[in-house]
Amino acid sequence: MESCITPACQSARDIFHELEEHYDEHNLYFQTIGSVLEAADALKVPHRLKLILTQPKNEIMIHFPVQMDDGSWQLFKGYRVQHNNVLGPYKGGIRFHPEVKLDEVKTLSLLMTMKCALARLPYGGAKGALRVDPRSLSPHELQKVTRRLTAALGSNIGPDHDIPAPDVGTNAQIMAWMADTYINFSDSSKKTTALGVVTGKPLEFGGSEGREKATGQGLVYVLDALLPGMQMDIGQLTYSLIGYGNVGSWTARLLKDRGSKLLTVMDHTGAIYNADGIDADALAEHVRATGGVAQFKDAEAISNENFYSTQVDLFIPAALEQMVDLEHAEHMSCKVLVEAANAPTTPRAERYLLDKGVQILPAILCNSGGVTVSYFEWKQNRQSETWDAEDIDARLKKIMTAAAKRVLETAERLDCNMRVASYASAIEHIDKVYKVRGVFP
Ligand code: NAD
Repeated sequence: MESCITPACQSARDIFHELEEHYDEHNLYFQTIGSVLEAADALKVPHRLKLILTQPKNEIMIHFPVQMDDGSWQLFKGYRVQHNNVLGPYKGGIRFHPEVKLDEVKTLSLLMTMKCALARLPYGGAKGALRVDPRSLSPHELQKVTRRLTAALGSNIGPDHDIPAPDVGTNAQIMAWMADTYINFSDSSKKTTALGVVTGKPLEFGGSEGREKATGQGLVYVLDALLPGMQMDIGQLTYSLIGYGNVGSWTARLLKDRGSKLLTVMDHTGAIYNADGIDADALAEHVRATGGVAQFKDAEAISNENFYSTQVDLFIPAALEQMVDLEHAEHMSCKVLVEAANAPTTPRAERYLLDKGVQILPAILCNSGGVTVSYFEWKQNRQSETWDAEDIDARLKKIMTAAAKRVLETAERLDCNMRVASYASAIEHIDKVYKVRGVFP
C-alpha cells in the first residue's frame, strides 16, 4: 500500500499523537480519518468533535465455534464496530470475507457515520464482518454460522440500537436467518418490532421493494443530478466497472436502461471487454450461473492492465477497498471516477487523478442509496406498512438528489473537491446535533 501524502495526514497525525495511538500512514483507517479531519479543519469545528470522530465508540470482537458438515470444528472471528450514534441507532452492513481486518471494519463504520449524516438519515454509523469465505461453506454450514454469529452479537444489535444489513459476501437470505435468530431470542412483547433488527431482508419476510437494487439505483440518481453540470449525457456515455456483485450488476442493469455503454468489467475471476458494449442482463445471468464474469461468451478476455487503461467516460469501482491505486490511476483514461464501492481510491491515486482533471464522485454520496432504502425498510417494519416500488423510487430520488446538491453547494462554498465537501456537509450536520444535544454528562 502507498503512503499518505495529502495535507490531511498532518491533522490525523496530530490527533493520533494526542490520543497516544500509533498508526502508520499506510493504514486505511489513518488515510480515511485524514480526509475526514481535512473537512473538519475546513469547517473549523470544535476540537472535541474531531476527537470524537477519530475513534469509534465501541469495537466488539467475538469468537465462536461451529461444527462443520464433516464433523470437524471451526472457530470463527467476527467484528462489529459502532462508530457514532449521535444522529440515531448505529447502522451498517455486515461483511463475510476471509481476509477482513479490524481496521477495515473501523474504516467502513466511520464512512457509515459520514454517509448517514450526509443523506440526513436518523442513523449513526457501524459495520460488521466475519472472517470467512462464504463460498467455501455449504448452505447448511452458512446458516449455522450466521445464526451463531447473531447469537454471539446478542444485545449489541437491535432495532433501536444497531441495525446490520447486507454487504460484500452477505445477502437477503443471510439477513433472514439473522432476523429469525434475533426474533427467537426476543420477548414476546417485542417480536413485531424485532423484525427491524436487520434490513435487506427478503420481500416475503419484512423486506422492502427496491432494496436489492437500491445502491445501484441511488448511484444512477446521483449521476442524473451531477452529470449535466459536467456537460455529460447519461445516454451517450461509456463506462468500465470493477465488481459484478449486488452493486456492480444493478448499476450496470440500470445504466443499460439509460443507454450508457458498458465496455469492460473486471471481477475476482478476470476481466472482459467488448467495444460494442456488454449486455448487462446477459452478464448478470452468466455471473449467477458461473460465479464470475470470466468466460462470458459475448466479450473477449483482457488483462487487468488493459482493463484499467480502457478509455471510458466513467470508471466505476464497485468491488473492494483500494482497488484504484497510483499505479492503476497512471494508466486510467476516464473523465469521472464514480465510487460505488467504499474507499476504493488510495490518497495518492486520488491526488494524481484530481491533478489530471478527473472528477471524483465520493463513495459516501454515490453508494448511499443502499442505506437509504434500508431506512425505508426499517420505517415500514416499525409501522407494519408496505410501500410500493414507485413510492420507494420517488423517495430515494428525492434524498439522493438533495445529497448531491448539498455536496455541490458545500464544494462551492468551501472551494474544495467533492470528497472533502461530502465529509464537510456530513460533519456540519453532526456538529449541529452535538451542539443542541450537548456532550454527556
Ligand atoms: P458483492 O459481494 O455482491 O460483490 C463484490 C464484487 O467484488 C464481486 O463481483 C466480486 O467478484 C468482486 N471482487 C472481489 N474481489 C475482487 C478482486 N480482487 N478484483 C476484482 N473484483 C473483486 O458486494 P456488494 O454488495 O456489491 O458490495 C460492493 C461494494 O459496495 C463494497 O465496497 C460494499 O461495501 C459497497 N456497498 C454495498 C452496498 C450494498 O447495498 N450491497 C451498499 C453500499 C456500499
